[in-house]
Amino acid sequence: MTTNLRDRLVLRHYLVVAGLLAASAALSACDPGSSARQAAAEPEREPGWTWSDERVMETVNAVRAGRDLQPAQWPDGARVAVLLSFDVDNETVTGLRYGDATVGSLSEGQYGARRALPRVVDLLDREGVPASFFIPAVSLVLDPSQIGVIQAAGHHEFAVHGWIHELNTSLDAETERALLQRAVEYMTEATGTRPLGYRAPSWNFSANTLSIIREMGFLYDSSLMADDQPYEIDAAGEPTGMVELPVQWILDDAPYFNPRGDSYANPRDVLQVWIDEFEVALAEGTIFVLTMHPHVIGHRSRIVVLEELIRYVKGYGDDVWFATHLEAAQYVKDQAGL
Ligand SMILES: [Zn+2]
Repeated sequence: MTTNLRDRLVLRHYLVVAGLLAASAALSACDPGSSARQAAAEPEREPGWTWSDERVMETVNAVRAGRDLQPAQWPDGARVAVLLSFDVDNETVTGLRYGDATVGSLSEGQYGARRALPRVVDLLDREGVPASFFIPAVSLVLDPSQIGVIQAAGHHEFAVHGWIHELNTSLDAETERALLQRAVEYMTEATGTRPLGYRAPSWNFSANTLSIIREMGFLYDSSLMADDQPYEIDAAGEPTGMVELPVQWILDDAPYFNPRGDSYANPRDVLQVWIDEFEVALAEGTIFVLTMHPHVIGHRSRIVVLEELIRYVKGYGDDVWFATHLEAAQYVKDQAGL
């Protein structure tokens, strides 16, 4: 063990003892990650080595990747599908969802609607690239001007990301369902179109999430991580017909860019990671799903990197199919005969 590592472990121990680790997780500007891990660690757990084989299997199979939905080809002979998504979290993750809002943290979220989203959409529209916007409905309530900004190009998708970025793993089924119904009703009314895509706040399912989104008629989910390519979600070993367009922390801006934390990365280094991810997706003929947040990627030193990435990808011309998540989900579903 190096001195450096030992020092870090001592520091971590101190933080745990001081009860500060949970606080720092709750305050993280990063959308999913820390809070999801925190919630997962909270309940009293019996370690896996004490479980019966049946319990292991039941737990693992509750929600699990099933049939591979990778199509034999993409539309018009494209070699890769590129799906850009923006989780418009704004104030919902910089203060509201945990009820710990402060003026400073809320202002950091408002930047998402006020400056970053128009900048992001302007880039997309100049480049003629469609994207999917996964939105906690409260973000639109707080600044409805975002609807017109997103709608202007006529090809971006509105999808659901909870009501107020609620942590569904901490909710009972009734509350989770009621919040999601409220979100869908609001977004349908506000945008004129019923959203068919779901992304769980914090990228995690409760025991009830899958059955709730099936009941509500969502066409696809984009929250889970069991593959690099599309798959059908199974529930208790049975196929559900729900298309999963998988995500990954590597392909999410938030964990890289916490300006006050220990995870800050040079945007140009992150660009190289995403280019490498894209190159392998292209070589394998699969999908490149990139999750960003306007209040994270929309800053000046980062939007230039997104612009470079889009231009790099467009350099492959007709080999690339830029699509919304909904278009891709519908396509793979049709190709698979689902
Ligand atoms: Zn989010």
